[in-house]
Amino acid sequence: MGHNHILIVDDNESIHEDIETILSNSSGDSDPELQQIEEDLFSDGSEKKKEPVAQVEYEIDHAYQGEEAVEKVAKAQESDNPYSLVFMDIRMPPGIDGIQAIKRIWDDYPYTEVVICTAYSDYSLDEIIQNLGTTDKLLFIKKPFDATALKQTALTQTTKWQLQQEAISYTEKLEEKVNERTQQLNESVEKFKKMKEKAEEASATKSIFLANMSHEIRTPMNGVIGMNDLLMETDLDEEQEELSRLVKRSAESLLRVINDILDFSKIEAGKMDIEEIPFNIRNVIKEVVEIITYSTEEKGLDITYSADEDIPQKLLGDPTRLRQILLNYGSNAVKFTEEGYVAFNIDLIESEEDEHLVQFSVEDTGTGISEDKQSDIFGSFSQADSSTTRKFGGTGLGLAICRQLAELMDGEVDVESELGEGSTFYCTIPFKDVEEETNEVQTGREEEKEEKAFLSEDMKILVAEDNEINQMVATKILEKEGLDVEIVENGLEAVKAVKENDYAFVLMDIQMPEMDGYDATRAIREMEEETGKHIPIIALTASAMEEDRKLCLDAGMDDYVPKPVDREYLMKALKRTLTQGNTSQVTTG
Ligand code: ADP
Repeated sequence: MGHNHILIVDDNESIHEDIETILSNSSGDSDPELQQIEEDLFSDGSEKKKEPVAQVEYEIDHAYQGEEAVEKVAKAQESDNPYSLVFMDIRMPPGIDGIQAIKRIWDDYPYTEVVICTAYSDYSLDEIIQNLGTTDKLLFIKKPFDATALKQTALTQTTKWQLQQEAISYTEKLEEKVNERTQQLNESVEKFKKMKEKAEEASATKSIFLANMSHEIRTPMNGVIGMNDLLMETDLDEEQEELSRLVKRSAESLLRVINDILDFSKIEAGKMDIEEIPFNIRNVIKEVVEIITYSTEEKGLDITYSADEDIPQKLLGDPTRLRQILLNYGSNAVKFTEEGYVAFNIDLIESEEDEHLVQFSVEDTGTGISEDKQSDIFGSFSQADSSTTRKFGGTGLGLAICRQLAELMDGEVDVESELGEGSTFYCTIPFKDVEEETNEVQTGREEEKEEKAFLSEDMKILVAEDNEINQMVATKILEKEGLDVEIVENGLEAVKAVKENDYAFVLMDIQMPEMDGYDATRAIREMEEETGKHIPIIALTASAMEEDRKLCLDAGMDDYVPKPVDREYLMKALKRTLTQGNTSQVTTG
């Protein structure tokens, strides 16, 4: 038994014999004859027999010198049978004494229990303690030995050593287990990281695909809407006019869905840019209220609007995205309200130095949303009641886009609602003050007037576009502004036309036969190196991605307009290019 391995260290052989005799239980218990006599003499006559004392067996080794003891301790440890207890004499000339031997043993095996056997000594007990330091591994026993005291000491100390070893091995095992688990966890974390990366990659790919697809779909939609608009301006009988109106309505609602998907996937792909320009909050909300009022004429809802007077006139922010959020709230409110009112409010929550926290709310008296549906109503594809989906339509993306846009503007969204009573949707966004010098505030219609100031009727425009429908739509938008439009069908023709004519600007499609828009632009820019002129070239492209816009600018184009060509975007781009010269600020749809 390992834990009962004992070393006796003394230069006196008789001490070895004494201790060994006592510990090997020759205390008399083993002599049955003696035991019987003892019992006869001292027994009180009762039946009770003396319980046999549990026998402890020790494996005892001997050393006679300090050095020898140190070596033996090391050897026992090496052969995996360490001493739990060492009986140590102090004086053992020649060589190191007991104190030094103990020090060296403890240097390597600090858990070894030691009992110092003293008779007379060169050291007092106090001196020994001072020498060895305060420790619980040390006991003293006086010679001549009391057998029972010695036995008890041996039993207690070996047991203590054993317990300590168990505690150590338990701790080690625990540590091992912890390390093992930690490693497993680290592996899992690695695995999940990889999975997450993969999922994110897949999601980004999906978003890019969706963004591209919706742009691709918008191009023919542009054709449908544009051609239908042209058709509606011809002489139609009543039935034809009604049918055209239906085409228009369906096409527009399809375009809204496509735009939602495009916005959503652009946000997901991290490609939604938020502008920070001076604008007038009241004008934005007035515009939204006007559109919403117009759309609800049939229902006869009461549409109201109020704004906190303390809100500054001009603020810095993104009016387009703010309008988008409010229009979404507003059209939902109208969609889900049969009678009563829809109220738009703007409140100033707090102002701090140059920043103002503004809360927009849209309150309705409609169907309301049950409490359990409210929590994830701002999640993607979430619709409070799927049975109403068919009745009201919608993608479930609107509110998700609102939330994401608000967050991109460092704001947040919220809803309060009671089923059957109505709902209030909130959007809280911080806006910065406009620095004093800028007086360029974007104010909806005022801006529109301004927009046209840079166009004049004698302007000649070149449109390079191979698709007949797109040609017509672009032409129509420009002709409405009184401009003179010329059309070419490929890049080669565009270069030739620019060489021979004086145009105010060029709208350049990217994908064209013979020579694409990039090459045509490069060729034109090359020509201009000789003439020193710079004709504004605005790209028309169906591609939604940042990379493409960079390609346009790299090729020497001045700006970029996404297809389907939207009048507002085109005008903005024209204004930028024609009034500010060659800027490279680009708007995407
Ligand atoms: P959808 O395109 O389906 O309208 P939204 O994200 O805009 O997508 O809205 C999600 C759902 O939230 C709606 O389908 C509707 O169930 C609920 N909802 C949104 N606004 C209101 C409202 N004002 N009143 C009642 N329910 C609403």
